[in-house]
Order: sequence, then C-alpha cells, then structure tokens
Amino acid sequence: MRCDVVAVGTELLLGQIVDTNSAWMGERLAAAGIYSLMQTKVGDNQARIVSALRDALAQADAVICCGGLGPTQDDITRESIAELMGVALERDEAMVASVRAMFEDRGRVMPESNQRQADRPVGAEFIVNHRGTAPGLRCLIGDKVLYAVPGVPHEMQAMVDEVIVADLVRRSGESGVIASRVLRTWGAAESAIAEMVAPRLIALDAPGAPPATIAFLASGMEGIKVRITAKATTRDAVNAILDTEEQALRAILGRLVFGVDDDSMEQVVARLLLNAGFTLAVAESLTGGLVSSRLVGVPGASVWFKGAVVSYASEVKFDLLGVANGAVVSADAAIAMAEGVRHRLRADVGLGVTGVAGPDEQEGHPVGTVFVGLALPGQPAEAVELRLPGDRERVRQYAAIGLLDLLRLRLSSN
Ligand code: ATP
Repeated sequence: MRCDVVAVGTELLLGQIVDTNSAWMGERLAAAGIYSLMQTKVGDNQARIVSALRDALAQADAVICCGGLGPTQDDITRESIAELMGVALERDEAMVASVRAMFEDRGRVMPESNQRQADRPVGAEFIVNHRGTAPGLRCLIGDKVLYAVPGVPHEMQAMVDEVIVADLVRRSGESGVIASRVLRTWGAAESAIAEMVAPRLIALDAPGAPPATIAFLASGMEGIKVRITAKATTRDAVNAILDTEEQALRAILGRLVFGVDDDSMEQVVARLLLNAGFTLAVAESLTGGLVSSRLVGVPGASVWFKGAVVSYASEVKFDLLGVANGAVVSADAAIAMAEGVRHRLRADVGLGVTGVAGPDEQEGHPVGTVFVGLALPGQPAEAVELRLPGDRERVRQYAAIGLLDLLRLRLSSN
C-alpha cells in the first residue's frame, strides 16, 4: 500500500510555515507499514492543486491532502477535489448544523462563511473533526482513495490516527495488527546507537525471524528514538513481539534507554524522585531556569520539586549558595551550588549546573564545557564534566537535559 501526501498552502511555499504535517504523516504511515514515496507542496491555486492531486493519485494507491479546508476564499481544497472528481459540491445541512453547534458551544455565533465547511463533493464522505470546525473528506476515485484533512496539526493528527491509518490498513487487504514501541535514549549519537543495534537488525532480517523492524529517529535535542514496529494477527501477539524486542534492545543499550514512547526525561526523573520519596532543588547558571521549567511542566511537581535559584552572576553563587570565591566554571563550583541550594531550599537532593554557553570561552574553558553537580542524601556530592556541542542555545538545552540525565542515572538502580 502506497499513500502519498499533498500539502496545500501558499505559506508553505513562501517558507512562512514549515510543512511539519507531511513529516508527521510520513512517520505515522511508515509505522503502519504503508509506503509514502512522494510528498508534494502546492500553493492555494485550484488548477495546480487539481494537477498535484491527479499526479499523486496516478502513482499511489491513496493520497492524503492536508490544508485548505478552512472557511476563507483561499481555502479551495474542496472545490479542487470536486473538479478532480468531475462532480458538483453539495452543502450538507446536517453538517452546517453541527458546525453551528460547535460555535454555539463556545458561546460564539457562526460566521456565514463557515457554511462552506459543510460542502462536499457529491459522493464524498465526511471525516468527523472532534477538535475543530472543518470536517475532513474521504473520496473514492476509481480504485483509489483520496482523504482531505485540515492543515491545523492537532486536527489533522486526530483524523490520521483515528480514521485514516486504519482505513488504509483495511484497504491494503492485509489483516493483522501493526504496533510500534519507541525506546527513548540519551547520551549517544545516532551512529553509535545504530552500530550497537546492527546485530539485532541483521537477526531480524534472517529467515524465520519475528516480523519486526527497527528504525532510528533523531528527536532534536531530546536524544535518539529507537522504534520497534511489529506485525501479527492479534494485539497480544504483537505485544509479545514488542516485549521480546524491547528486552533485546535494552540488553544492548543498557542505561542509555531512559524511557518508553511518550516518556520525557523529566517525567522519568519525577517518577524516580517520587519512588525514593526525595525532594529536589536546583541551582542553575547557564541554563537560566530551563531545568526548572522542564520540571514544573510535569503535573504534580510540587510534591517533589522545591524550587530553584538562577545563580547567574558569580556573586549570587558566592553570597547565596556558598560557592568559594574564585573560579565559577569548575567541578568544585558545581558541587558547592548543588550543596548550597539543597541546604537553602531544604531539599533532599541538590543539583547544580555551571559552564560556558558561549559565544566566548570563559576562565580558559572552551564553549560547551559544563560541570553538573549532584548532592544526594547519604552520599558525598559529586560533579561530572560534560563537553557539549553547538551554539549557545544548544549548549544550554543539552546542559539542562544532561543534568536531568545524571540524576536519572544516580537514582535508578540498574
Ligand atoms: P482550518 O479549517 O482549521 O482553518 P485549514 O484546512 O484551512 O484548517 P490551513 O488554513 O491550510 O488549514 O492551515 C491552518 C494552519 O495550520 C496554518 O496557519 C498553519 O499554522 C497550520 N498548517 C497548515 N498546513 C500545515 C503543514 N503542512 N504543516 C504544518 N502546519 C500546517
């Protein structure tokens, strides 16, 4: 089964927004075992939209078209599909009532232009939009299928996840269940992880191996994801394959794996702190609050997070945290910051982070030199030196996650 994507919107061509929708759909389709071999961007021009859709349908079994379903005059995806199908648009009064009700639920009056969202090419079916006003469309064209979804990412994502992928899998005629599990890693480059996992990839290629594949996805500054996708006749059988592969990968990757699926580093740290019954305080220099911001993003953080001191200027490190006068980019300073903030905020665990974010070197240390300090109950405080790549922003982000990773490693028993 091949499903290509056509993203509609002049702003995509002008670089005013980046086409993240196609990338997201590509990932979702691949995870379901569906090939997406061509992804096109086209502006808000009916002739060109029709031509892009026609070309895509000529090559693929299915096409998802995203964007241009809004109420304004430049939203012309519906008209384009009607032209492609050679049919008229008809207004669906039940859908008009439903869009109107959605506005009324929010205490607003529906602008008349929104009635256009209840138009559909004769023969097309609506895909319900639980998150916005523009319904999607499902259009059978010969033996192919064309879906239209809104451009707003979370509306598009709900339709793809809730309706379209299952429809495509059904159409592909392959019965069975496909599911994925993602292992989140931090601390090694994609190439290093790929080398470590290579023997497993070869084993899965061998005849008689379980029907599973492994893929690597870089996820920005948040580490490398290792995704296992498996296929079987029942949900239980798929889960059993995923469990076996997860164990095999964990045996290879060890403590590089910090979580599964949607786990974030701070959620994992939060669970470990809760299990240990520890509270936490943080002293941040170059991260300037990034660590605290991530921590308070975890619901219920007040149970275990005491707070932070953004000790950016040296005198704050000296006066407030008890760092000894002298170098502030050092292991000793990181340890003193961790101990000082733990004491000041009466927490069980103290973390400290100091370093050189750039653009200039500091105290003779190159940009990217970062010391993270950790003070845990009943143990001598320690510091670890990190050498982080990138510009100021990347060094600061990596320092924040690196600090949390160090705490994760110290709090997790295996
Ligand atoms: P709605 O009816 O909800 O307005 P729509 O189908 O008309 O949706 P567009 O008007 O094309 O969608 O886009 C709405 C917004 O969705 C854009 O301003 C942009 O923020 C986002 N968007 C659209 N297309 C994409 C895309 N391909 N990738 C990422 N974001 C997108």
